[in-house]
Amino acid sequence: MKKISVIVPCYNEEETINLFFEALTSFWKDNLSDHELEAVFIDDGSKDNTLLLIRALADKHDSVRYGSFSRNFGKEAAMFAGLELCTGDCAVVIDADLQHPVETIKDMADKWNEGFDVIEGIKSTRGKEAKSHSLFANMFYGIISSLIGFDMRNSSDFKLIDRKVIDVLLTFTEKDTFFRALTFWSGFKSTSVEYEVKERSAGSSKWSGFSLVKYAFRNILAFTYTPLYLIAILGVLVILIGLYMGVDAVITYFKGESVGGYPSLVILITLSTGAILSSLGIVSIYLSKVFNEVKNRPRFIFREHN
Ligand code: UDP
Ligand code: MG
Repeated sequence: MKKISVIVPCYNEEETINLFFEALTSFWKDNLSDHELEAVFIDDGSKDNTLLLIRALADKHDSVRYGSFSRNFGKEAAMFAGLELCTGDCAVVIDADLQHPVETIKDMADKWNEGFDVIEGIKSTRGKEAKSHSLFANMFYGIISSLIGFDMRNSSDFKLIDRKVIDVLLTFTEKDTFFRALTFWSGFKSTSVEYEVKERSAGSSKWSGFSLVKYAFRNILAFTYTPLYLIAILGVLVILIGLYMGVDAVITYFKGESVGGYPSLVILITLSTGAILSSLGIVSIYLSKVFNEVKNRPRFIFREHN
């Protein structure tokens, strides 16, 4: 019997863990009993009773594996920890809050059995998100999609990946991972299934507006060098503006008119200082990323796992 690992990153999910496990196992019994289930819960340094609850589940059910981080390392780290611990022939990564419907795992498993290696969960609707949130998400995925050349709009971390993809992802040594895009990037035979984003079953989203912006920038910078090329283009633009103003000044001089010195000087100085500073900023961000990778610290630290 083929084994499917279900990887569940959990951060302060005491209100949802048991609801989730109940929903997962009862659905499994009725619809996926021809596959073995392994549930892998990763406690991402929760401050509530999440760890106690998943430990209790692991004590009670042989099919439950768990790991717990020494502190909060973030969802990316939690997903990779799950990939490391899981022993299935494939793995499904799913949120603990039941926003990702467990029923979709069946659709994914069917596609997997047809021979696909990556089955992406694509949001058919984005649920009840704030307008500003979906506008921002659309912008972010628009940029990312055009930069990396795959359509990532409506994509999510909810996906099934075959064992060979898991093994490949685990060879990646970068610390700054972007799971959602790496499965596209790795290039295996992939397809998608649609699902409807549900309301959070309980608890609250761990994302604030600011952390979403940070996430977007982090991933755009982690995945592409385009901003560095944009700097070069910006430099050329500033040179062109300088040339234009220079020629204009010479012409004005030979016409016998006086050249307006102060305004053009102010414009030039602010323009070029702005260009230099923002360029320096972009280079610094890449430098900090290189710094981070060179330190070669682990992506996460387990406090315990079974
Ligand atoms: N999560 C995590 N570490 C974090 C933040 C979130 O493991 O630092 C988990 C969280 O427990 C949930 C999933 O990632 O299972 C998605 O988080 P959330 O529901 O807060 O995000 P949203 O659905 O609002 O995008
Ligand atoms: Mg959620």
